[in-house]
Amino acid sequence: MSATIIDGKAIAARVRGEVAEDVRAFTELTGRTPGLATVLVGDDPGSAVYVSGKQRACAEVGMTPLDRRLPTDATHEQVAGLLNECNRDETVSGVLLQLPLPDHLDGPTLTGTIDPAKDVDGLTPVNAGLLSLGRPGLRPCTPLGVLELLRSVDATLEGAEAVVVGRSNLFGKPMAQLLLAQNATVTMCHSRTRDLAAVCSRADILIAAVGRARLIEREFVKPGAVVIDVGMNRLTPEQAHNSSGLVGDVDFAAAVEVASAITPVPGGVGPMTIACLLRNTLDAARAQAGIQ
Ligand code: NAP
Repeated sequence: MSATIIDGKAIAARVRGEVAEDVRAFTELTGRTPGLATVLVGDDPGSAVYVSGKQRACAEVGMTPLDRRLPTDATHEQVAGLLNECNRDETVSGVLLQLPLPDHLDGPTLTGTIDPAKDVDGLTPVNAGLLSLGRPGLRPCTPLGVLELLRSVDATLEGAEAVVVGRSNLFGKPMAQLLLAQNATVTMCHSRTRDLAAVCSRADILIAAVGRARLIEREFVKPGAVVIDVGMNRLTPEQAHNSSGLVGDVDFAAAVEVASAITPVPGGVGPMTIACLLRNTLDAARAQAGIQ
């Protein structure tokens, strides 16, 4: 058996097209365009690339990007002050603090100062709590993107055994909550899990978000499982056997023979994150304008 390869790029392009149409409708109705403020502290080149990508994607769907930057030595008060300015700015529908921050700053504390109504990354304690309670709120973008990928292959979630490897606040925990809300039976694994292979091999839906190249081997994958690879690990192109040098947490060549559907890296989960960020920004703008 060879699995269906889930084309994250194509699905993300569809979502972005839908958001662009909905932004047009929003603008016609309200006379305003949704605005996304990105806050970048420091000059980490990787973070700068991510922020530029988000800014560009935002403009492409007709939203207004606001690129706010602070130097590496910015104080907690300066970052909190800028976030607060964005919170109060009526032209800003969504606020995103690019992580990681320089070492002297506390990411979770600063993220927690973002107005929950503008928290398009879904990472504030209020939105994490709403998700946990099963109440409406802004959800983290990467887990939302994964749900969309699962829908694209009509994966049955109700009653399914779902295993999430990785328990970060950014991905693993919200992913597990979203799957639970879809009535999956969810197991979360982490670095202290005993016999990871045995737990993973029970999964109808196997999601890996660890940050370890090819941790998930063939015997971890139940025949017919849907495998979603969130990991992004940079190797030399020779080690990676692809031109980008990027590989996931799953041994793709082995898993593709066993799974029923699988995401590649790159081109799987990655493109969905920005698409879902755009959708979250529009949803935030609608909620602020009192539109359902
Ligand atoms: P993280 O905060 O570093 O968390 C990693 C998780 O993996 C932790 O829960 C850790 O367990 C667990 N872990 C580490 N070694 C393990 C092992 N040998 N067996 C089982 N579990 C193990 O990572 P993250 O932020 O969630 O990101 C994970 C990966 O996804 C990274 O490669 C990241 O680049 C990628 N990512 C991609 C996107 C995207 O848009 N494509 C978005 C987010 C993340 P403990 O909790 O016990 O330490």
